[in-house]
Amino acid sequence: MPRKKKDGRFINYYIDRHIFERLERYAQSKGQQMTTAIERILQDYLDRYEAAPPKGGTSMYCPNCNLLTDSPRCPACGSKNIRLPMSEDYCRLAELDTIWKDALADILTQHNIPFVTKNVLGAGLAARIGPALEKIRFYVPYRCLEAARALHQGFFAGAQTE
Ligand SMILES: [Zn+2]
Repeated sequence: MPRKKKDGRFINYYIDRHIFERLERYAQSKGQQMTTAIERILQDYLDRYEAAPPKGGTSMYCPNCNLLTDSPRCPACGSKNIRLPMSEDYCRLAELDTIWKDALADILTQHNIPFVTKNVLGAGLAARIGPALEKIRFYVPYRCLEAARALHQGFFAGAQTE
């Protein structure tokens, strides 16, 4: 049976010789055809570029803390083991007093934004000091973060003027 013909395009660009030589070395070290190397490099770069937020786009993600940061270390745990965020990474949206939990949950649900919540203190400690002092953290997927931030800001702008 003949192999299915690849749906491809030829590219022919006059690129910098040094970049080309780096590409050749890369492909050799990976044992890849130049075509495969170029496809994978472009795909990897474009995947990350497209997942990045419209402005800035240089934020890194700490998978330990679900936090975005612009510094080379996570501000919460100090880890250097941070990477570019992926669209399904859950990122911390907000930390709220528990009294706001249901209101924010409702708004996110209405806008079809998936979220998870986590109690900051943990059930044992909250029981001792009282639920009123408990805080709750909301996390949303990176792809929804911009929209969720706008909703969260709008929600608190409204709540504070009451
Ligand atoms: Zn961290």
